[in-house]
Amino acid sequence: MNDLNSSLAALKFFYNTHATKPFAFRKNQLQLLKQTLLKYDSEIEQALFSDLKKSREETYATETGLVLAEINVTLKNLRQWMEPKSTGTNLVNLPSTSKIYRDPLGIVLIIAPWNYPVQLLLIPLVGAIAGGNCVVLKPSEFAPATDRVLQKIITEIFPPEFVLYVQGDGAEVVPAMMKNFRFDHVFYTGSIAVGKIIYQMAAEKLVPVTLELGGKSPAIVHADADITVAVKRIAFGKFLNTGQTCIAPDYVLVHIDVKEKFIEKLKETITKFYSTDASSNYNYGKIINEKRFDVLVRYLDTAKIVTGGDHDKEKLFISPTVLENVSLDSPLMTEEIFGPLLPVISFNTIEEAMNIVQRNAGPLAFYLFTTSKKTEEEWIEKIPFGGGCVNNADWHFTNHYLPFGGVGNSGMGSYHGKYSFDTFTRLKPVMKTPNWFDPSIKYPPLKGKLKLFKWIIK
Ligand code: NAD
Repeated sequence: MNDLNSSLAALKFFYNTHATKPFAFRKNQLQLLKQTLLKYDSEIEQALFSDLKKSREETYATETGLVLAEINVTLKNLRQWMEPKSTGTNLVNLPSTSKIYRDPLGIVLIIAPWNYPVQLLLIPLVGAIAGGNCVVLKPSEFAPATDRVLQKIITEIFPPEFVLYVQGDGAEVVPAMMKNFRFDHVFYTGSIAVGKIIYQMAAEKLVPVTLELGGKSPAIVHADADITVAVKRIAFGKFLNTGQTCIAPDYVLVHIDVKEKFIEKLKETITKFYSTDASSNYNYGKIINEKRFDVLVRYLDTAKIVTGGDHDKEKLFISPTVLENVSLDSPLMTEEIFGPLLPVISFNTIEEAMNIVQRNAGPLAFYLFTTSKKTEEEWIEKIPFGGGCVNNADWHFTNHYLPFGGVGNSGMGSYHGKYSFDTFTRLKPVMKTPNWFDPSIKYPPLKGKLKLFKWIIK
């Protein structure tokens, strides 16, 4: 513990040297990170295969490739993002000029979960470095192979007084750090339950937070949707990483008129994507651990299995599963599933579908399948959600021009691309006033100047 305290003190000391602030420093660190990720490419692939049975292709598309893209967009724009921006000055303050600077936050703590253990740790790191901060990285202990490679990469390229890599049980090391040290920001990705603990600890020291949490993200399929396309996109978004994706469609609400067709196509598509035996399929992963496996298997008994339901604890395998006759009060519809189980529920009217969605208000993601502009506008106007897609699922996450984040129960704050830079910096407004113009009207005695003030200040 004393070691950790002195490491945190060293970060503060280093930050106070201002070494992390120049553009050249930030740029060099990002380039170094990029090169080193490429160097350890195959070790990362092996680690993710060992932890989650991710294929090389999936690892690139959903982990390493996303970090590389984030570094690239940041390197391309960083100088411009860092430049102070001139802004207007109101009448009463003329002829002053006004600028908004972007200040680093200081020492930031980034805490990541196990499901995308590379990108959920490193994409925020890119933003934090771009912002000119010192960083403490806390990976998840539940993806141990990936944790080891990441530790190797981070400690090889960054001195611990700049980026400190802290391993271990989150419930121990995070409170130990947050109670003894004041971070300038905590960026947390993970469950709602732990998010609340983080928020409470941060509140004690008035530390600002970004919380990237989970929730129940719905996919809505209207009768006018292109069912063939909708099924492919929902199945891919759901069963990717064995359903262990925070933005995966958690459940489907399908219009009663197309429910049968939807389910038939879904069964066909699952076989096409993962064959009749997904347990040995290259494209299909595994559940992270026995604890999660047990939770998911318990859900299987609470509804009718349309397809799937096979499981093997030894292999941590649960097949892609579609469920119907799901009660809205069952855990399947009140808890975040976070696994390859997809409840399909029918609806008659848009109001009925909206009421079901609002039972778990503020989903992290929202997916709408329709060809009607009017239906699209109605959902977007009436339902709050973190982010979403029309006629697609999951892919909005990969578009770094869009802010990514939750609302209400699914979190607060956002990141990716420029939004990461904004999250990891603070607006610092400065007004500069020339000395040559100094009218006495601005100073006491003020008596008799009210009319003039009313004219100038409005
Ligand atoms: P988790 O909350 O159990 O753990 C996340 C991190 O918090 C880990 O690093 C862990 O060590 C640490 N931690 C655990 N207990 C802690 C405690 N008491 N105090 C402080 N830190 C603690 O989450 P998880 O199971 O790893 O991830 C699954 C959840 O994360 C799901 O709900 C999912 O939806 C959500 N998630 C959200 C996003 C997003 O971008 N919004 C992305 C991925 C996952």
